[in-house]
Amino acid sequence: MTQHVLVVNAGSSSLKYSLIDAKSGAAAATGLVERIGEDESHHVHHGPDGDAENDEPVADHEAALEAAVQAFEDHGPALGAVEIVAVGHRVVHGGDRFAAPALVDDELIDAVTELVPLAPLHNPANLEGIKVARRLLPDLPHVAVFDTAFHQTLPPYAYTYAVPSSWQDEFGIRRYGFHGTSHSFVAGEAAKLLGRDLKDVNLIVLHLGNGCSAAAVRGGTSVDTSMGLTPLEGLVMGTRSGDLDPAIHGHLARVAGRTAEETDRALNSESGLKGLAGVNDFREIMKRRAAGDERAQLAFDVYCYRLKKYVGAYYAVLGTVDAIVFTAGVGQHSAEARAAALQGLEHLGIHIDPVRNAGPDERFASTGDSPVAVLVIPTNEEWEIARQAVEVIADR
Ligand code: AMP
Repeated sequence: MTQHVLVVNAGSSSLKYSLIDAKSGAAAATGLVERIGEDESHHVHHGPDGDAENDEPVADHEAALEAAVQAFEDHGPALGAVEIVAVGHRVVHGGDRFAAPALVDDELIDAVTELVPLAPLHNPANLEGIKVARRLLPDLPHVAVFDTAFHQTLPPYAYTYAVPSSWQDEFGIRRYGFHGTSHSFVAGEAAKLLGRDLKDVNLIVLHLGNGCSAAAVRGGTSVDTSMGLTPLEGLVMGTRSGDLDPAIHGHLARVAGRTAEETDRALNSESGLKGLAGVNDFREIMKRRAAGDERAQLAFDVYCYRLKKYVGAYYAVLGTVDAIVFTAGVGQHSAEARAAALQGLEHLGIHIDPVRNAGPDERFASTGDSPVAVLVIPTNEEWEIARQAVEVIADR
């Protein structure tokens, strides 16, 4: 029997959706409405009969979800004809309130609203998606799946910043971590690939997309992760700086009169690969690097060096490591980034096999006798959200 879940990921000007069978992971349809609220929106629906596109303006998230429901009617599969068991919503910040996915009710909406100051760019859009979907699909249970929840198992010494302790109570200042849905999915898949029980393996998971984060996962439990209070901390990303000296904010305020908002924006949107090389697309970095562009070379080196430092740190955290797992756009597709990040770590038992690493569909990038496996695993956050939603409604 199938168990279809409508997975909704509402961003500030976009709405991504997929109708997924939680059991098999098969997507009956997926879609994306972009540029919501602008003069020209774009809606693509991938249904059983191929792609349908529409460039008519979409005023708001309500109109976007209505367009999605209509696309299911027009291009299939009609929602009434599929037995949908739940709607699963991606919510970025669950603070320390949510260590697990939860059924949406008015109380949950209030709690996620209270967390808006911690994720001002993401939670309002996620909430909008939830409210609209509840109005349009009132008879289905709605489940919120939090990006932060998987990392709620971090021990206090890993999530506590060494700042005045009152800041945590007063302002919620501590590390939360993100990409949890992806880390959780990929960790499960890695254990399957290794033929081991997830409870028995130690993994370093590297989610390298436009946003990048590392996680140390012991027996299926996150014990450390590189993102912190916000998704800015940690690895070098497409447009985000990752780790830096916290004094930079104050220094720029004093020497350049930069406001907190200006520096925040620069660190989130104009830094990382984009800040160093002018572009955030990793493929473009690789093209320019191959053509001898020094800025692209430096961007690549800074990116991979930061990765290596986190691999070393999480190796020390875990003590023993069964596998290092690469996922998301760069992690999955860039053999060069994987090789550079792990180069010279043979003494830690990490042996890359250049041929396997370069194989486009190869899951193992390490040699057959490497004590630490290096795995390449596509992430599937939608499927994980669908699975978690089904678990929540089964527990009701
Ligand atoms: P994601 O956020 O997971 O979609 O990943 C986006 C990032 O993956 C972008 O920087 C892309 O340039 C990068 N990416 C996608 N495909 C490739 C590829 N074939 N080789 C290198 N990087 C890639």
